[in-house]
Amino acid sequence: MENLLQVNQLQTEFKKDDQPIKILHGIDFQLNKGEVLGLVGESGCGKSITSLSIMRLFRGTSGKISGGSIYFNGEDLTTLSEESMRKIRGKQMAMIFQEPMTSLNPVMKIGEQMMEPIRLHLSLKKKEAKSHAISILEKVGIPRAEEILNEFPHQLSGGMRQRVMIAMAMSCNPKLLIADEPTTALDVTIQAQILSLMKKLQEEEKMSVLLITHDLGVVAEMCDRVVVMYAGRVVEEASVIDLFEDPKHPYTKGLIGSVPKIGEKREKLDSISGNVPDPSNMPMGCKFAPRCKEAMPICFEEEPDTVSFENNRSCSCWLFHEERGEMSV
Ligand code: SF4
Ligand code: MG
Repeated sequence: MENLLQVNQLQTEFKKDDQPIKILHGIDFQLNKGEVLGLVGESGCGKSITSLSIMRLFRGTSGKISGGSIYFNGEDLTTLSEESMRKIRGKQMAMIFQEPMTSLNPVMKIGEQMMEPIRLHLSLKKKEAKSHAISILEKVGIPRAEEILNEFPHQLSGGMRQRVMIAMAMSCNPKLLIADEPTTALDVTIQAQILSLMKKLQEEEKMSVLLITHDLGVVAEMCDRVVVMYAGRVVEEASVIDLFEDPKHPYTKGLIGSVPKIGEKREKLDSISGNVPDPSNMPMGCKFAPRCKEAMPICFEEEPDTVSFENNRSCSCWLFHEERGEMSV
């Protein structure tokens, strides 16, 4: 399969009280053409920062990429000018967010917001841009598309707003769609509709999707491969089938264990106790050690390297290192 996005040793930092705080500690993954890759982990693990780094959307924050590379279509995005990035954003890669109201302009009609990027990126005249906008709104299942163009975001329901966001993201035929918790704010029925819409569009357009979610049910439904993140690091990568059938990293096992299964009676979900560590105060060794049921002495001393397995999977955990016993006391 042809590679579209290759993230190598990506490091991103923010400033806190004038001190740089590293949030991403060398992230590696790749996304192939036409593939849906899930980026999972609890909130605060660096998933959204990874997507903002790829889009280079740090506006108004102290965030910056401090190391590594992000190859998109063979070009390293970390070295491009802001001007070149602007041409890529919206046209070649587009993003949808959890809460459409944060990215829709409340005082602009839907039509104006949709047509601006279409005219800019596809160089269409006003009339052509309008019919393009209408056809995309129809594609995402919006009834009376022409009327919607004259409405403001607040006149639409949450589900309709999310459809409009998807239509906007799709309007210039991006090669890569980054979706950050796209259905988290919606109720379950609407959530299922939006996910199946995204899946349908992705298959029709042969788009690559980076889907960020904390919801493993969404991952099972949508993804081909999964990258599990913890504390600004990739801790496991596998195909969706391998991940659910045979999770290797204790964190992944914990995430899967906290998903209720249909028909299963449980007093309480097995959630992972404790919290994601504070980036400015990381524990030594494996960052998951304070919460890990399988932690060994070495885990509190040294961070494990990534071990590769067949079938393109990998995991960063001492349980899979031969030399794990060396430092045990
Ligand atoms: Fe648990 Fe040790 Fe593996 Fe970390 S390295 S996940 S603490 S077993
Ligand atoms: Mg997030």
